[in-house]
Amino acid sequence: MTEGTEEISEADASIIRVMPDVLANKIAAGEVVGRPASVVKELVENALDAGAGRVQVLLGDGGRSLIQVIDDGCGMSALDAERCFGRHATSKIREFEDLDRIATLGFRGEALASIGSVARVELRTRRAKDDTGTAVRVEGGKTVSTEPCAQPAGTSIAVRQLFYNVPARRAFLKTDATEVSHAVDTVQVLALANPAVTFSLHVDGREILDLAARSEAPAEALAGRIQDLFGHEPGGLLWVDERTSYLSISGWVAQPEVRKKTRGEQFLLVNGRPIRSRYLEHAVYNSYRGLIPEGSFPFFVLNLEVDTRHVDVNVHPTKAEVKFDDERGVYSMLKAVTGRALSQGAGVLRFDESAVDLLAGSGGDGEGYPGHGSQGTPNPFGAGGPSGPHKPRPGSLDLSLYAPLEVNDSGAKDPATESASESDGMVWQMLGSYIVAPIRSGLLIMDQHAAHERVIFERAGKALEDGFGLSQQLLFPTVVEFSPADFALLEGLLPDLRAIGFDVATLSGRSVMVRGLPADIRAGDEHGVLSEVLEQYKVFAQRLQLKPRALLARALARRSAVPRDSRLDPKEMRSLIDQLFQCAEPYTSPSGQPTLIRITGDELARRFGHRS
Ligand code: ADP
Ligand code: MG
Repeated sequence: MTEGTEEISEADASIIRVMPDVLANKIAAGEVVGRPASVVKELVENALDAGAGRVQVLLGDGGRSLIQVIDDGCGMSALDAERCFGRHATSKIREFEDLDRIATLGFRGEALASIGSVARVELRTRRAKDDTGTAVRVEGGKTVSTEPCAQPAGTSIAVRQLFYNVPARRAFLKTDATEVSHAVDTVQVLALANPAVTFSLHVDGREILDLAARSEAPAEALAGRIQDLFGHEPGGLLWVDERTSYLSISGWVAQPEVRKKTRGEQFLLVNGRPIRSRYLEHAVYNSYRGLIPEGSFPFFVLNLEVDTRHVDVNVHPTKAEVKFDDERGVYSMLKAVTGRALSQGAGVLRFDESAVDLLAGSGGDGEGYPGHGSQGTPNPFGAGGPSGPHKPRPGSLDLSLYAPLEVNDSGAKDPATESASESDGMVWQMLGSYIVAPIRSGLLIMDQHAAHERVIFERAGKALEDGFGLSQQLLFPTVVEFSPADFALLEGLLPDLRAIGFDVATLSGRSVMVRGLPADIRAGDEHGVLSEVLEQYKVFAQRLQLKPRALLARALARRSAVPRDSRLDPKEMRSLIDQLFQCAEPYTSPSGQPTLIRITGDELARRFGHRS
């Protein structure tokens, strides 16, 4: 093994560097090549790293006789073509300082060396700017020939007779069908991670996959690729897109109807690379609890973007497992965002039978709602998502629980309601402060401020319990200055403030940078909300004998609930009704005021003096 980095005289001839031993030793050594599928994974990842727009994979005899990957990526110089089989040879290091960062991304310059040592490998490669390509043959770790060749721009690596010199390993290979199915899984997940790349897979000359590049925006491109691979209609999927300064999560989760009997169709990516994590998958299952039968699994593809400083992909030699520095935080956020997408997806359907029971005062458990819904990201396809038509789920009532049309005729004079379509569910606002909705047994009148206070209060409580609340990032972080006393108070509350979604950092002196706010804060209210919540906290702290967390949840609810005398559109009203009935105690505000009044047909009859 070579010591230190080598001097490269002619910069153009080679971009590959050899990692210093220090780093090489730091990186856990491990078996890269387990079976044909792991060779496929390494070669396809290299092709993707090389910027390929098209990747072809060919297998012969389950990968035993041939594994070939052909790409149209950047190609290699003649010097690099030879060098790339050396141990710890990697071009994915630019600067020495990059070493740590690169290492955490999992570039170890080990794959080709390992593969070359256990097979007969032929590499053919050409950079677009070179006239001729280079062919290199390596057998059992030894370079047997290097010569110029004709080759389209890009790289082709053919791995023949895998484990020809390691009979013990060869004996462990399973049937062709099994090896092929692992390889298909591998290509599948890499194709999901890279919808903009064309992929094909041929097994013994037969085409198994043929995936055209998806050139749409990322959400649609991924949905298209999902449909190409699994046949799931975009309408059955819910788009997730949440960002905090630590972690961003985006992708598609399936409506509960789309489920599987096996764990096969769950995909987690970290910074675009597929990973497996029982722990994090569990976070997603958790938010489906009660929505899908025991023993079935939801479909999802979620990409986690996190600064490489916070994640270590080297815990596993083939990078399939990762370690976050805040594993629990990632778990909580995954659970929260998928739960939120699901409660969005179900939309007004959540206002269902149990809500009717609650209204009738007969109890009802109000349980079984996985998320703490709020305004979510609309499904870019319009249909089937939060903003599209909803398919009623078994056990849910559709809009039929709203009263028949004649109620609207007599009551709905609000232009907003009149313009609303029938599926808007006929709900209107009175005096800018009350939401009126006909229900089967009469009329429901909701105090919008009290109701919203309850919703925010419970959601904040949940966030404090989980240690994670949804946060919306500010485009322009603001800096707020506090008095010494307030600053001291604020510092003590910081962990809890962060838990409910304030993304804040203390600066020197007594100022605080606000980068994100709880998702419940309404647009337009961003400015000064942190100081207001703190003021309200002080007021409550003097009046009420409560623990700091309860005070904080109360203060947030009071300051950020929609005020009386403010106009809501029908969608907002329905969403509020929906969210109130997801609460454990929907009838009262956190301070004990009623949130809603019900006027029954019986009461009307009594007040009009009708005798029954
Ligand atoms: P790593 O990917 O960790 O750098 P590998 O052993 O997989 O290590 O590859 C070694 C080097 O060979 C890469 O850094 C890259 O420079 C080069 N290489 C491998 N495959 C390709 C490819 N398909 N196209 C262009 N360069 C490649
Ligand atoms: Mg590689």
